Amino acid sequence: MTEKYDVIIVGAGAAGMMSAIEAGKRGRKVLLVDHAKKIGEKIRISGGGRCNFTNIHTHPDKFISKNPNFIISALKQYTQNDFIRLIKKHNIKFHEKKLGQLFCDESAQQVIEMLLLECKEANVILKKDMKIKDIDKKDDKYFITVDSDKYLSESLIIATGGLSIPKIGATQFGYDVAKKFNLKVVETLPALVPLTFNEKILSICKKLTGLSIETVVSFKKVFFEEGMLFTHRGLSGPSILQISSYWKLGENIRINLSPKLDVAKFINDKKNINPKQDINIIISELLPKRLAHIICNENNVSGNICEISNKILDRLSDSINTWEIKPTGSEGYRTAEVTLGGIDTNEISSKTMMSKKHPGLFFVGEVVDVTGHLGGYNFQWAWSSGYVAGQHA
Ligand SMILES: Cc1cc2nc3c(=O)[nH]c(=O)nc-3n(C[C@H](O)[C@H](O)[C@H](O)COP(=O)(O)OP(=O)(O)OC[C@H]3O[C@@H](n4cnc5c(N)ncnc54)[C@H](O)[C@@H]3O)c2cc1C
Repeated sequence: MTEKYDVIIVGAGAAGMMSAIEAGKRGRKVLLVDHAKKIGEKIRISGGGRCNFTNIHTHPDKFISKNPNFIISALKQYTQNDFIRLIKKHNIKFHEKKLGQLFCDESAQQVIEMLLLECKEANVILKKDMKIKDIDKKDDKYFITVDSDKYLSESLIIATGGLSIPKIGATQFGYDVAKKFNLKVVETLPALVPLTFNEKILSICKKLTGLSIETVVSFKKVFFEEGMLFTHRGLSGPSILQISSYWKLGENIRINLSPKLDVAKFINDKKNINPKQDINIIISELLPKRLAHIICNENNVSGNICEISNKILDRLSDSINTWEIKPTGSEGYRTAEVTLGGIDTNEISSKTMMSKKHPGLFFVGEVVDVTGHLGGYNFQWAWSSGYVAGQHA
């Protein structure tokens, strides 16, 4: 049996559903397939169950790609305001949590239901639990094979996402399709992911598990001023997740544990004003007690400040303002929010998301070498790139 469509989309996540809606609205006969039994799982678990669906400050400089200019066109064609309009049309209540990040007031499920309803209204045919055996191209038509059935289309959109969280359905599929059609793939790596450390630093993290503080975390010239969380596996929290997208194995990151204050000056003033004060108490004015205590211990400092040499106090303040540590790795795709790298953007038109070598073949969403910062940018890329392919497929 062979079923014929104008457009077949593989992957019914954020980008795939958006492509399907837009192609369907143009009157195209659209088939949207997914191997999962449940649609939109990544949306459901996103933003702690509330889906940080976009960011008011969406701008190309919030994205990482080998070719940063690639991102501009799609973000212009479908902006954060376009998606906010869609959310409002469906009466989904939302709020800005911080830094322009928009979350549903109630549940991420509302976004899934909105997309499914839009798909239905655009006459998209949705098939779940479809295990695709093969993809092929013959006489400018694309074929997908599921069991003994074949599905044929003029346009094929690959929207199978990245490699993060395999237990909810992430696969290599999109990258394998690219290879099959001789398209380059930029090396993939887990990103927006907690970092891991050697035994010495890990033991500190374990003692401080659950503690969250405001930090500036930097790698070379890139820095993020956000919260950092100590966990029993290492370091996490927004600032660490953000820097993980830039950090390179074998290199150090820098953490400023007291970003609002020049600690050396603060300690020096204390020494002059109240030389008999205990150093532990002084550091506890800057940092949570548990952390202050560990930092003093690690630097072998105790007792009255007047009895501690300036050299040792300088070392102590450095360890607070510029704690330089070398991660040994990351928690990997098991907990990563996204995948860095993907289909090389040089292979795709930024105006249409279509392959330059294979007319009719499109790639959208996270499978492409475009990765957003934390804060709703990854969904906005899915909506924007999905929209663009939907106009041309
Ligand atoms: C825990 C977590 C929280 C996140 N929170 C946010 C957030 O709040 N805001 C934000 O902007 N981003 C967030 N992200 C990132 C965001 O979810 C992704 O960037 C986005 O979902 C990518 O959309 P996509 O459509 O490209 O891929 P996906 O949403 O991953 O969809 C891919 C689809 O393809 C299907 N598929 C895969 N392989 C096959 C195959 N072989 N055959 C058929 N179907 C297949 C999958 O089942 C899936 O339905 C989060 C990610 C995680 C893991």
